[in-house]
Amino acid sequence: MTRVLVVEDDPQLVRALVINLEARTYDVDAAPDGATALRLAAARQPDAILLDLGLPDMDGIEVIEGLRGWTRVPILVLSARNGSEDKIRALDAGADDCMTKPFSMAELLARLRAATRRSDTAPPAAAETALVTTDEFTVDLVAKKVRRGGRDVRLTPTEWHLLEILISNPGRLISQKRLLQEVWGPTHGSKTNHLRVYMAQLRRKLEADPSHPRYLITEPGMGYRFET
Ligand code: CA
Repeated sequence: MTRVLVVEDDPQLVRALVINLEARTYDVDAAPDGATALRLAAARQPDAILLDLGLPDMDGIEVIEGLRGWTRVPILVLSARNGSEDKIRALDAGADDCMTKPFSMAELLARLRAATRRSDTAPPAAAETALVTTDEFTVDLVAKKVRRGGRDVRLTPTEWHLLEILISNPGRLISQKRLLQEVWGPTHGSKTNHLRVYMAQLRRKLEADPSHPRYLITEPGMGYRFET
């Protein structure tokens, strides 16, 4: 069965897409924002992603860049904006195809078939295991396992959630607020001391020199970044 991740914040369009895709025996997951999309893409390993560019929490281009850090899954962009500039940016960032809203469902399904056909015949990419490897440790985003020095590293669910967000966005600054809201919930946006504690724990488990981190970088007053 082909699994599709629909990333779209318009509930009516999501409903229409889900009904049409499921009627053609696709297995569908839906994400209403970019952060959920990045998490679901790692957890569910879709065969294709339909991505709206105008999302409530981040630009769709950022989602493409985050995904392309570790996967070559076909990405079909749904853009509400008619200009070609957005499409060029999306394709440059790694999208496979673009459609402008409103679009015909028949055309969308045809393009989706084409995108998944292309990826079926492409040579398998090493990245499809969603393995992120550094000189110090390896993270398997699908199996949710971390290995270091030939041994499994045990992480708490909170530590894993933080690490997963950072690793899914290689090289990108993730704000303290976003990490807090995603991991602890929407009312915890200001508890930066939580973050400091958990980041210190992660560094102790993953960094060769936790006081001089090489991979889990603090941007003072702003947030954190996973450096590859
Ligand atoms: Ca939108």
